[in-house]
Amino acid sequence: MRDTTKHQGLRNQLATTLQEKGITDANVLDAVRKIPRHLFIDSSFEAHAYQDKAFPIAADQTISHPYTVAFQSQVLEVEEGEKILEIGTGSGYQTAVLLELKAEVYTIERQHELFKKTSMFLPKLGYRPKRFVFGDGYKGLPDEAPFDKVIVTAGAPFVPKPLLAQLKVGGKLLIPVGDGEQVMTLFIRKSPLEFEKHELGDFRFVPMLKKKN
Ligand code: SAH
Repeated sequence: MRDTTKHQGLRNQLATTLQEKGITDANVLDAVRKIPRHLFIDSSFEAHAYQDKAFPIAADQTISHPYTVAFQSQVLEVEEGEKILEIGTGSGYQTAVLLELKAEVYTIERQHELFKKTSMFLPKLGYRPKRFVFGDGYKGLPDEAPFDKVIVTAGAPFVPKPLLAQLKVGGKLLIPVGDGEQVMTLFIRKSPLEFEKHELGDFRFVPMLKKKN
């Protein structure tokens, strides 16, 4: 696992590109400058790791575009020590961003191959979520709820009720909703029964699937 000054230079350029695309959160941009994204993907894509592109990872899944990761991280307005549930660990890149933002992260992945690979890999880089869970993100993580924030990084055909139920009052759920193309949707829990909904533009994610048994 090699990280060089050349990689660092490419990361700085990527952060500038993201800034030009509208990312303003300085902590998110710092995380992009810091995290060695080339180590999260197959070495055959290494030369392109710092372009704003998605790449295949294991189990027919993809690492999200850096812009998408930065956008979701910025919308969440992560504060130090917040308890965050992430659905769709995948490569662990988004997880690493949340950890750089000093959140306490609980992350769920339904593909065993990715769960295994990423739960071994992230700690090697010093990234330690509170929990790696192999399971079904549709159910959330009731034994650790409530959460300050819940972030879904796969395209959900509908909004799973347990994810709304597991938010603190004042908490936020950020979820791309739709088949094929998704609308990035933010729910803010205003009271135990009231949620405010904001639609934040179109994105394209791999689909959120039911757990394989
Ligand atoms: N944040 C990740 C995104 C990976 S793609 C990254 O940037 O690498 C979406 C991930 O969600 C995939 O790893 C996929 O296996 C996972 N996923 C899909 N449906 C899921 C579900 N029901 N529960 C948990 N994870 C799920």
